[in-house]
Amino acid sequence: MSDGKHSGRQTLYICAAIVLAILLAIVMPTTAMKFHLGGEVFLNLLKMMVVPLVMSSVMCGILGMGDVRKLGKPGLYTILYYFCTTILAVVVGLVVVNIIKPGIGTVSEEKLAEIKGDDAATGDMIYEYLADQVDVPKEKVAEFFGSAEQSEPTIGMIIENLVTSLFTDNLFTAASETNLLPLIVFSIIFAGMLTTLGENVDTLKTGIEQINHALMAFVMLLMKVAPLGIFCLVTARFGEAQAAGELGEVIQQTGWYMLTVLSGLGFHALVTLPLMFWFFTRRNPYQFLWQMSRAVLTAFSTASSSATLPVTMECAETEAGVSERSTNFVLPLGATINMDGTALYEAAAAIFIAQVVGIDLSLMQQLTIAVTATLAAVGAAGIPEAGLVTMLIVLNAVGLPVEYVALILSVDWLLDRFRTAVNTFGDACGAAIIDTNFVSELGDGNAGEATSVENI
Ligand code: ASP
Repeated sequence: MSDGKHSGRQTLYICAAIVLAILLAIVMPTTAMKFHLGGEVFLNLLKMMVVPLVMSSVMCGILGMGDVRKLGKPGLYTILYYFCTTILAVVVGLVVVNIIKPGIGTVSEEKLAEIKGDDAATGDMIYEYLADQVDVPKEKVAEFFGSAEQSEPTIGMIIENLVTSLFTDNLFTAASETNLLPLIVFSIIFAGMLTTLGENVDTLKTGIEQINHALMAFVMLLMKVAPLGIFCLVTARFGEAQAAGELGEVIQQTGWYMLTVLSGLGFHALVTLPLMFWFFTRRNPYQFLWQMSRAVLTAFSTASSSATLPVTMECAETEAGVSERSTNFVLPLGATINMDGTALYEAAAAIFIAQVVGIDLSLMQQLTIAVTATLAAVGAAGIPEAGLVTMLIVLNAVGLPVEYVALILSVDWLLDRFRTAVNTFGDACGAAIIDTNFVSELGDGNAGEATSVENI
């Protein structure tokens, strides 16, 4: 574990950077927007690490076990754990939205009539917004939007899509789109094969371990400039919203809805996950949250749990003392399939829309929302506002009008940051829990010592 004082100081610097960034954005939005370049550079540096790090760490994990079959039990428990916490998050979302009822009496008749009267324009607006904001190729959004509009997806169809997304016909395309699931599957199989080929491939195995350690060292180095990068990222985005006059307006118009989602996310991050963490590890969950704080703050700043993955791995290993054996698997898998915050938000947002439109959902429909929100969150990529795209599945599954997404578009970029932070913390809790309970099954880990960059 690293020197606690040093990392504590880093966390404080990052917190200060975020506060200063927001203040600057409010007072001088045009100046704040000029920091855009710095933010983009930092984000790209993080994103650049993701594909090689995921592949090398998953391979290292398998090589450390010495036998791919040993992955069975911990792998299964990891998936089970992630599913359970995602379902718990959805339940929290449903409870909070049913208690606060943010959609009842909070949206003016004129606004509703505006959306209803201009279906096509609103549809276009949503499509354009998604294509513009979400970091996936435009054709993909168009394709997704089209299919979501045309048919009501069944749960079977959603599961079928998830299974298909495990595999790719082109590894390089998957890598270029940061499509992590097929890369994880490939890495498991490839490293599994290596474990059966004996001494012939020793050089390759050592090479993979060395690549992994070098990448982690790079992440540690990158963390030294994290406060600056995070300052740029946050101030540019908040400045943009302030310059467009959105910030205050958005908070005013969607106040109740924001309060609902934030209460749910807060409850899940500060009560549900800590309880699970304490129950399975008997350690102090809030100390763990502090140890993971740099990752959680990076998630808030980047709005991408995939881009945050290198930092999550670094914090889990060096701050929280989670073994490499566990972080190597559990975190890449978590960043891809475990999205508690996203699931909670999708369930809450769907019920919010139903409340606004005045549709009384039956228990069965709420259950359908719970199941589809869980699956939609599993299917969402760890990129900014991906949850908004997959929410169309949830709305369609219970026949809610998709055009009412217009009501929550303006605030999504902001809520996205909070739900990404929860997603990342959920992944980290999973890694620590699996580590504590299944270390023996995961084998002895990698032989190499963690690389330190303190002296670089
Ligand atoms: N931005 C989220 C993440 O990266 C996904 C989402 O909810 O939109 O985890």
